[in-house]
Amino acid sequence: MTMEKFRLDGRVALVTGGNRGIGLAIAELFLEAGARCLVTARVETPALARLLATHPETAAWHGADVTDPAAPAAMVGAAVARFGRLDVLVNNAGVADNGDFHDFDDARLARIMDTNLVAPFRIARAAVPVMLAQGGGAIVNIGSISGEVANRPQFQVAYNASKAAVHQMTRVMAFEYAGRGIRVNAVAPGYVVSDMTAGGIANPEWNRVWTGNTPMGRLARPEEMATCALFLASDAASYVTGAVLVADGGYTTH
Ligand code: NDP
Repeated sequence: MTMEKFRLDGRVALVTGGNRGIGLAIAELFLEAGARCLVTARVETPALARLLATHPETAAWHGADVTDPAAPAAMVGAAVARFGRLDVLVNNAGVADNGDFHDFDDARLARIMDTNLVAPFRIARAAVPVMLAQGGGAIVNIGSISGEVANRPQFQVAYNASKAAVHQMTRVMAFEYAGRGIRVNAVAPGYVVSDMTAGGIANPEWNRVWTGNTPMGRLARPEEMATCALFLASDAASYVTGAVLVADGGYTTH
């Protein structure tokens, strides 16, 4: 029965940024693993509409901007209203921005930090009381190798700082709730093919550097991050908390 531990039957998950890219792949896999899933993002994409049509009973949509201070309570409330509980939170929504450090004005800095750090903090803060009342839960934050190393060739210090903070928030939350049934972990993806990286992939120089610096010699597919998130969300990871699971094709080995 060990393989059953990788499933999410009976669990309710909230996935932010689940309308495309890594978040959509996570929602798809969680549904396949037996979870009921509330997906949030700002816009309902055709891919998300297909997901909702395929899983009319177990998938639901809640439109929200994660930087809206009212959004965290609303999305947690929506998950509980629709499915009766909340077992798994995946803080996936995020944005990147590139440029020299000295050109990063306050508006750009705030957009990165509000989306990548403040929002996951607030959403977890809204989810934890529900999980505590239920006796436990699992939080999976999507960090990045950008939280561990400098990116190249592009400069993106605000993004790097935001993801480093997400990794540390993950460790400290894990410490705080380890005795109260809530596991908190992060996935730190390397370069993944998605809308976020489309511009860089289309740039021959950037693509060459990204691929060339990845020992496996290729970028990741979103599905390869979803399996990591499933492991951390599931009982297969019952003794794993405070971990930052690096999934980067070897990028940070050298
Ligand atoms: P995408 O750009 O494809 O997707 C980003 C997601 O975040 C979308 O669903 C988007 O929704 C959502 N989002 C962004 N801002 C907001 C907001 N203010 N309110 C609500 N939703 C928002 O990126 P990825 O799938 O690649 O990235 C997902 C996560 O993985 C991010 O946290 C990213 O930093 C991280 N990551 C990605 C890597 C990569 O190489 N792609 C590498 C390492 C980490 P909407 O359509 O409404 O904007």
